[in-house]
Amino acid sequence: MNVLEQLLKDAGVFEHGFADVFKIQFTQEVRAMCEMNTCRKYNKTWACPPAIGTVEECRDRVQQYDTMVVFSVKCDLEDSFDYEGMVAGGEKFKQVCLSVDKALRSYMDDFLLLANEGCDKCKECTYPDAPCRFPEQTHGSLEGYGIFVSELAKQAGIHYINGADTVTYFAGVACRWDTLVQKGLV
Ligand code: SF4
Repeated sequence: MNVLEQLLKDAGVFEHGFADVFKIQFTQEVRAMCEMNTCRKYNKTWACPPAIGTVEECRDRVQQYDTMVVFSVKCDLEDSFDYEGMVAGGEKFKQVCLSVDKALRSYMDDFLLLANEGCDKCKECTYPDAPCRFPEQTHGSLEGYGIFVSELAKQAGIHYINGADTVTYFAGVACRWDTLVQKGLV
């Protein structure tokens, strides 16, 4: 097991794979779903639309890198109506993202972590009253960036659906392959 695999496993990641950022599609179609605000995060943080700019600006931000380490967190539910289990799963996912972020920062500081449901770094986001506390470290929303998460999972070779009575969350770390190699992560 290489250093990156160990780091992700220790953080609680279920599966991971790699995607070429230049093959990821950034679409207005997904952004439009975001704008319907079913997650209730729209216009609530610096890491979600409209604060993150247009889909084209988001694409350009990701394409400063060449690789995305896509990872998933799988949570078991008692049944498909287990709302508490879903909430607990969401909390677990946030913790995993924070752990991955922290562990990676001891190897490199220039990367962009995007996650289902957007930024979770601060207990309360400063948006819109004050600037973001960590503008270089926000966890932008995959969906807000216009990314079809099911397509991203397919591209990275990991499972989007993981069986009955489970919920799976996804995140991606945009970074440079050369840096992963130089830092001995892969
Ligand atoms: S880092 Fe903090 S202030 Fe910045 S977007 Fe995330 S939650 Fe908001």
